[in-house]
Amino acid sequence: MDCPNCKTWNPDDKEVCWRCQTPLPKPKPPKKRTQTGGFPSWMWMLIAAFFAMTLLGQCLFSPLNVPQ
Ligand SMILES: [Zn+2]
Repeated sequence: MDCPNCKTWNPDDKEVCWRCQTPLPKPKPPKKRTQTGGFPSWMWMLIAAFFAMTLLGQCLFSPLNVPQ
């Protein structure tokens, strides 16, 4: 990481510049994923809703869609 004051390169784990002692901005830590498998929970809801709609559609609406 380059120092914002003197543009000197510093190791990423340094908190202050080794040359001018300017506090270095900390790199953003990677976001930890709480869901298992990195799959968003709303996706499971969407899949469940899709299957529920499909099953309901087959049970309720398929007799009505018979042509003639
Ligand atoms: Zn510096």
